[in-house]
Amino acid sequence: MANLDSILKRALSFQRLDDGVLLNLLEIGGDEETRNIIEAADIYNRKINSDKVSYVVNRNINFTNICGLNCKFCGYKRTEKSKDSFLLDYDAILEKIREGKDKIGIDEICVTGGIYPALKPDYYFNLIKTVRDNFSDLHIHAFSPQEIYELSKATEKSYRAVILKLIDMGLDSMPGTAAEILAEDTRKKICPEKISAPVWVEIIKTAHKIGLKTSATVLFGHIETSLDLVSHLSLLRQIQDETRGFTEFIALPFVPFKTSLAKKIDLMPARNRIFRFYAVSRLYLDNFKNIQTSWPKIGTDAAVKSLFCGVNDFGGTLMEENITKSAGGKFGEYLSETQIKDFIRKAGKLAVRRDTLYNPVYEKKL
Ligand code: SF4
Repeated sequence: MANLDSILKRALSFQRLDDGVLLNLLEIGGDEETRNIIEAADIYNRKINSDKVSYVVNRNINFTNICGLNCKFCGYKRTEKSKDSFLLDYDAILEKIREGKDKIGIDEICVTGGIYPALKPDYYFNLIKTVRDNFSDLHIHAFSPQEIYELSKATEKSYRAVILKLIDMGLDSMPGTAAEILAEDTRKKICPEKISAPVWVEIIKTAHKIGLKTSATVLFGHIETSLDLVSHLSLLRQIQDETRGFTEFIALPFVPFKTSLAKKIDLMPARNRIFRFYAVSRLYLDNFKNIQTSWPKIGTDAAVKSLFCGVNDFGGTLMEENITKSAGGKFGEYLSETQIKDFIRKAGKLAVRRDTLYNPVYEKKL
């Protein structure tokens, strides 16, 4: 691209890049151009986050793998009849939290699951209430816009009323998952039964306007086009302009191995493509302070390298990770706080423990 230098200079003086430029940055092919984009994203990140790299001490809790939807990128869902299907009761969930508290001092739980049609709304509301009643100081990061939609349908209440009730029960924030790709044609091909892009946007904006923060995600490296990615990132930036409700952007590379999409796409995106996408996202999403890497999907070696591509957050300890593992991910499900700090420090960066909302947390004695 003839004017790549001037585009990168503009980005580094915090002038907004438009969607046409984003498309060019996504499609540019040469190694040298890719290196220049990554270098610019690294400088951009240092300007706004210095050498700090944050992480969260958390536990994932997947309450069920039974799901009535059929997303083609998913290796996690099971039916009620599957031998390895499960639904956790509240005692099992509380036990997992206790273990997380006792063993590693978790600050957050991230609660997600399949869309199990037989599960009554009260299961969701009482799950949050039970956790809150037992752990007053734990940050509960739970459910996605898809679950808000299902709860709204089942209770015949508005999205706003459902979210307010969950907050009343003790919900603190929500994962911005189920976004996948916010471009209707491709979305219908990979997750035909999921909420549409406009519904996802409506629920996220409703949450933000109530004051509930969410993350922002994208699933990339499957059948999406560059134009789809432009639509997706553009929507996220518009929402953030309007609400300031996103805490971070998490770009999730597609892990195909045990999914039905593997017939079409049987490899993960190449490392350089992942790094460039992180970098381009960093430069374009000028109203996001935080860009998170995804060590369970790309491995710790690549996650460390991504800290030089515009990324400033290492993600969490997780303790367990079932979704990427079920799709054939091979990079494990738990990193101790010490391991994460070592990875960050070996990269020459300053490790900062944070809470879900990116406030610093002082390390606790267990
Ligand atoms: S991605 Fe989630 S909603 Fe889609 S099939 Fe898998 S578990 Fe169900």
